[in-house]
Amino acid sequence: MRIAFIGLGNMGSGMCANLVKAGHQVTAFDLNAEAVSAATKAGASAATSIAKAVLGAEAVVTMLPAGKHVLSVYFDAHGVASKAEAGTLFLDCSTIAVEDARTASNKAAELGFEMADAPVSGGVAAASGGTLTFMVGGTESAFARAKPILEAMGKTIVHAGAAGNGQVAKIANNMLLGISMIATCEAFDLAERLGLDAQTFFDISSKASGQNWSMTSYCPAPGPVPTAPSNRDYEPGFAVDMMLKDLRLAAGAAKSADANTRFGTLATEVYEKLSENGFGNKDFSVIMQHLGE
Ligand code: NAD
Repeated sequence: MRIAFIGLGNMGSGMCANLVKAGHQVTAFDLNAEAVSAATKAGASAATSIAKAVLGAEAVVTMLPAGKHVLSVYFDAHGVASKAEAGTLFLDCSTIAVEDARTASNKAAELGFEMADAPVSGGVAAASGGTLTFMVGGTESAFARAKPILEAMGKTIVHAGAAGNGQVAKIANNMLLGISMIATCEAFDLAERLGLDAQTFFDISSKASGQNWSMTSYCPAPGPVPTAPSNRDYEPGFAVDMMLKDLRLAAGAAKSADANTRFGTLATEVYEKLSENGFGNKDFSVIMQHLGE
């Protein structure tokens, strides 16, 4: 399939390379010329503008920083929608506000294009390894068209429902993760202060009702999970600033839906403090070292 890929950053570069590997003809564009050049080394063709990237494309995949970039790339005067051929599928994999995803999908539909939001779970390693999880919002038809493209970049592809629901799944999941990491840190700290070492507490709690992903895959106390960032001075992993971005999106969405997310708000404050104190690039499990601050 002929695919235009726009946004070749930390995540997009690996995803673009995997589309090429799967046999697609990919034309790549980014504002950063070095990123485009790296994509050509992975087998994509270079484009010097959005217009040139989408020329003849059957699908456009975007992986951009935030909603404003997505709306601009698709709907500005010289954006994707003004240049794409009728029937081109729009597939945005960025993490953006639910409202922005729904606005984009509606605008695309008004112009006669199908669009799906397909944010990812998994970081840079999963993007280059082709093992991302995609949560997809859009019509049945958009999902059916998106699935074979996403399968080249990920392992698990789930249809979450109508447009925007991919972003709903992403922010609700990450709000849960942000909160559960803090709770896990508090539990390890409490156990240790009361005389129970991290390994013994892990052996018990990972088999008991407190078990959760933050404990068993990303244990914030060094030792019990050798691959966790806590064993390499909390190098990410999943950076505090990335978690903060997702929690802020969740807070905005909660407000619009009148949802009570009290612990989500508290978690946002905790990660904000970490970021302000210079730990924005550390793994989000670094809270373990800053409880009570
Ligand atoms: P990044 O900043 O590394 O890459 C974004 C790329 O978009 C950059 O290369 C930038 O030059 C390009 N870009 C920006 N505006 C553009 C425009 N108008 N036209 C063309 N290119 C443009 O970001 P990333 O880490 O790759 O993240 C991308 C998205 O994926 C974000 O929404 C992020 O929240 C989400 N995400 C990231 C991770 C992660 O671990 N990095 C994990 C899950 C989801």
